[in-house]
Amino acid sequence: MPIAADSALPMRALLAGARQKQPALLDFVRQLVRAESPSGDKAAVDACAALAAARASALGGRVKLHPRKEFGDLLEARFGPKSKAGRTLLLGHLDTVWPLGTLKTMPCRIGPGPSGELRLWGPGALDMKAGVAMAFTAIEMLTEAHLLNREIVLVLTGDEEIGSPVSRPAIERLAAECAQVFVLEPAQGLAYKTARKGVGNWRIGVTGLAAHAGVDFAKGANAILELARVIEKVSGWSDLERGLTVSVGVAGGGSRSNVIPAQAWAEVDVRIARKADGPRIARKFAALKPQDKRCTLTATGAINRPLMERTRSTVRLHLQAKALAAELGFPLPEASTGGASDGNFTSALGIPTLDGMGAVGEGAHAVNESVAIEHLAPRTALLAGLLARPVPYN
Ligand SMILES: [Zn+2]
Repeated sequence: MPIAADSALPMRALLAGARQKQPALLDFVRQLVRAESPSGDKAAVDACAALAAARASALGGRVKLHPRKEFGDLLEARFGPKSKAGRTLLLGHLDTVWPLGTLKTMPCRIGPGPSGELRLWGPGALDMKAGVAMAFTAIEMLTEAHLLNREIVLVLTGDEEIGSPVSRPAIERLAAECAQVFVLEPAQGLAYKTARKGVGNWRIGVTGLAAHAGVDFAKGANAILELARVIEKVSGWSDLERGLTVSVGVAGGGSRSNVIPAQAWAEVDVRIARKADGPRIARKFAALKPQDKRCTLTATGAINRPLMERTRSTVRLHLQAKALAAELGFPLPEASTGGASDGNFTSALGIPTLDGMGAVGEGAHAVNESVAIEHLAPRTALLAGLLARPVPYN
């Protein structure tokens, strides 16, 4: 007999259930981690998605694979009643930043962390295969407890780590049909994420005049020197108080030391915490001029991940989560971050989005990537509790 959505939820019972399922949860995380899935390798990402699709089918999910040519297929799995009221998008990705073969140097294993607590180690464990496994466990618990009273749309993509070039339209379309979005990215410390910066990328190109550095020095227009001036300039646009950063991450140019270089280029990462800074920075890039008039300069780019703003509905969502976490016996702070996720897209559509609902751990994109096992069951219970609660802002 289904329990009404607004009746008091047995959070402690959910926690006990999550603890019981922890060995199976860990097992599934290990399966996913061992299916290495770098964004650039479609076959590998598809193989990982096949594991998730099989798990979704076993849980009674209505599974649909959206084929993608260049990157991993997008997995959509729906659970619970087919209805619009309170429909919730659970958003995650299966791709990782780690190339095939990383398991040889970073094996998937359970072992102690720096202070002796148990951790699950491995490439992509924290970002974000553990979060994906938590979602499945939460859905399983709700199904078994007859608490699955809304439609859950689980979407797992294969190109998040490279900016979601092919899955963005599907994410936006599916999110638009939902009342709220829960993103399974790792937590920020112990916090859920209620705000993320917007991200932009620009490429600067400089063309100068090549000449012999010894014979014809005066005839040369040094593209690297010109680029260096531009780098100084754009780096000066950073304003930490506004949450604005402009960082030149890669640069190159020239051919050999005795040739005055005719070509130089740089790639720039831009992060904004205020919407208005997007067009402002775009105008500044467009207005860049070379100091040496013999050089030509191009700057191409855009803000490609919009800001995830700390909206009132997202804050209410966090407050609801915080109250349920308190029932489970742990604090749940909120945080903002400079890193972007697919939550930026759904939030920019105006859909309440809570992020960082996956695993707690350390070392995303780093050799110490690991998941703190003690937090897995409590956070899975919290996720299940939130999925059974009515949406807090309608
Ligand atoms: Zn991630």
